[in-house]
Amino acid sequence: MKNVAIIGGGAAGCFCAAELARLHPDWSVCVFEAGPRLMAKLAVTGGGRCNITNSFKGVESLSDVYPRGTNLMKRLLHSFGPADCLRWFGDLGVEFTEQPDHCIFPVSQDAMQIVRTLERQMKLGGVQVFCKRRVTAVDADLTVHYTDGDGDGSVRPDAVIVTTGGGTARKILAGSGIELVPDVPSLFTFKLTDTGIRSLMGTVVGNVTLGLAGTRFRSRGTLLLTDWGVSGPATLRLSSYAARWLADNQYRGTLLVNWLGSGEKEIRERLSAMSDSTRTVSNSHPAELSERLWKMLVARAGIRPETRWAELGSKGRERLVNILLADNYDFEGRARFKEEFVTCGGVALNEVRPDTLESRRIPGLFFAGEVLDIDAVTGGFNLQAAWSTAHLAAHSIN
Ligand SMILES: Cc1cc2nc3c(=O)[nH]c(=O)nc-3n(C[C@H](O)[C@H](O)[C@H](O)COP(=O)(O)OP(=O)(O)OC[C@H]3O[C@@H](n4cnc5c(N)ncnc54)[C@H](O)[C@@H]3O)c2cc1C
Repeated sequence: MKNVAIIGGGAAGCFCAAELARLHPDWSVCVFEAGPRLMAKLAVTGGGRCNITNSFKGVESLSDVYPRGTNLMKRLLHSFGPADCLRWFGDLGVEFTEQPDHCIFPVSQDAMQIVRTLERQMKLGGVQVFCKRRVTAVDADLTVHYTDGDGDGSVRPDAVIVTTGGGTARKILAGSGIELVPDVPSLFTFKLTDTGIRSLMGTVVGNVTLGLAGTRFRSRGTLLLTDWGVSGPATLRLSSYAARWLADNQYRGTLLVNWLGSGEKEIRERLSAMSDSTRTVSNSHPAELSERLWKMLVARAGIRPETRWAELGSKGRERLVNILLADNYDFEGRARFKEEFVTCGGVALNEVRPDTLESRRIPGLFFAGEVLDIDAVTGGFNLQAAWSTAHLAAHSIN
């Protein structure tokens, strides 16, 4: 019989508690949650629909989806991957559907179904839940200090699993000697200074390549123009890949846009194919670009609206190629994407044993979820990291 304290009743903490209770019905498992209720964030994931995981079918390289924690996630996905996650919840009656973009949601399209399923399992397993109990520190001998409505207290369990989410490690682990990677936000949109492009708000471009001038950061995908700048999957991915660089540069820089997501040769070929000498340049646009956007790009290339293809000349054509290939916009600042963001940083991965997620410095102390320096792009990958790490931590306590 063991006493296990789980600090943080979010996705990772509750999954861990339910799994521990299933594995060891005779153990005493408790969850300390600072907030008034469990899984408040899980309840609003995916706009309330909960993008619980991803089939990973469109993923070429794991580093494309887990910019931090790639190697650890590679290992963890083998032991508890998306199929295991779907089976785990499926055995408890949850049905799932995969979208064309490979994101997986419950058929009910209701995040509360996932919350209630975990709550039910915790209850069935006899997990004790203490809400409004904020942990203030965990000592090297595993003493957990907390504060709640009754004042300050402490407990000394046999094992502790910290699952307090992104941006929280420093508050609990300061003084533990455990290396913490500084926290910075990820998954945000960019505020462009150019007001011309912002007037095209609502425009969607299917397959662009975005980059940051002076860096090697690049992302591909759909771009959405908004009233403050750019959003959409390509932007969010870029914000994730370059999260630390962007923080270091106070969210200022120059965004490079390859509007057709193609190489120079292909762009030249596309322009040649479009060059109907009788038509004006601004009236024949590539199918991927809206007429309004194309007209703006033609103007940015310094080409007058009435110019015909036959009159374009090699200089005008070069300017058009350059705009399509590497258009650039200064940005100043970031904005949250639908209130969704994750934190990059947290417990350094060299501080934990990759086969157990136990602290190398403090035996009996484990970590799971976003408190670790693992984070992903959007698409269900962050919750999958929560399930995979929580599963491993639960199975590693003996
Ligand atoms: C609006 C939004 C939508 C999202 N949608 C998706 C999605 O659809 N798919 C996806 O994959 N990812 C999504 N994410 C990301 C995903 O929610 C997180 O990656 C995931 O919740 C991390 O789980 P966690 O358990 O590690 O942390 P959390 O879910 O943040 O849980 C941590 C818990 O610990 C508690 N806590 C913190 N400090 C203390 C303390 N000192 N003492 C006690 N308790 C404490 C917190 O109150 C919280 O309940 C979304 C994020 C947001 C903000």
